[in-house]
Amino acid sequence: MPDRPAGPPDLLRWYDRHRRTMPWRALPGEAADPYRVWLSEIMLQQTTVAAVIPYYNRFIARFPDVHLLAAAPADAVMSAWAGLGYYARARNLHACAKAVSAGGGQFPGTIEGLLTLPGIGPYTARAVAAIAFGVPVVPMDGNVERIAARLFAITTPLPAAKPLLAAAADRLGDHQAARARAADFAQALFDLGATICTRAPACGICPLAGMCAARRAGNPADFPARAAKPVRPTRHGALFWLTDVQNRVLLRRRPPAGLLGGMTELPGTDWLPAQWSESAALAAAPMAAPWRRAGRVRHVFTHFELYLDLFTARVPTITAEGFLRDTMSLADEALPSVMRKGIALAQADAAGDAAGLGQRG
Ligand code: SF4
Repeated sequence: MPDRPAGPPDLLRWYDRHRRTMPWRALPGEAADPYRVWLSEIMLQQTTVAAVIPYYNRFIARFPDVHLLAAAPADAVMSAWAGLGYYARARNLHACAKAVSAGGGQFPGTIEGLLTLPGIGPYTARAVAAIAFGVPVVPMDGNVERIAARLFAITTPLPAAKPLLAAAADRLGDHQAARARAADFAQALFDLGATICTRAPACGICPLAGMCAARRAGNPADFPARAAKPVRPTRHGALFWLTDVQNRVLLRRRPPAGLLGGMTELPGTDWLPAQWSESAALAAAPMAAPWRRAGRVRHVFTHFELYLDLFTARVPTITAEGFLRDTMSLADEALPSVMRKGIALAQADAAGDAAGLGQRG
């Protein structure tokens, strides 16, 4: 594409030809459904589009409108959310649906109104306002920050650059064409960032190439600049897979508040900075049993990396505190990803044992 003045009208023309299809997106000429837009934006926080789509489709089939979601039991919402992580979002999502449903079922159409709802912060309020209600604002996600940093060659590193990037994006969004099609403009920026202005940008086919300072300077991949990341701390613990002769496994419910609050879990130890010795871990086991180490689970949370040693045992009768579920019927339990990893390891270990493959780990 030759260099020439480019800007919002070019981006919108590109979007009309290349927009991505997503289950929550209105088709051209259709009005967006605020419930679907809000639900997708909550799910997309910290999660990729590809990962969200199957969850979104299942969720919308189960809770097709805000009243049905509001009326659902908390367990059903947590179970439909299980696997997406960041479980406080699911609790806030439910609280938000209840608030909107109690108010008649309409989401507020302004940023200020949206900000009064549980779980809706500044980014989500701007995204829902722009996409569902056509409010002329640019929601700043990672894609839009990257584009703004490159278009205006902003050298201040993230996160300090955030206000500068937002101001730059606002200048872009203030164009008459962008204000007239605010929903499309926001989504066009998302799509450009996801498909062309990526980590290794394809500037040769970019509709904004003619106005891009980083491209002119020849180093677009150097933007946005980032401050050095702090090292993610590590925590350690143990998980216990305890089954009885009827192939039922011992599970527990986590306390409602805190990390993974209200979710189902395998019994386990606390998660501590130092590694547990085997004897210390087994002293915290739910009951005395012929425990055997089956392997280790690794899971990365936003703020720390977790290593859990998995111990398995089979006993005639389980007397420990918790509840029992058939090991083949765990799909509907509200189990977070880290617990599903533990269960997969325990089941693979049991299958290996059954096939005479001996001990793993
Ligand atoms: S020209 Fe390149 S760096 Fe600039 S916005 Fe387009 S893809 Fe991104």
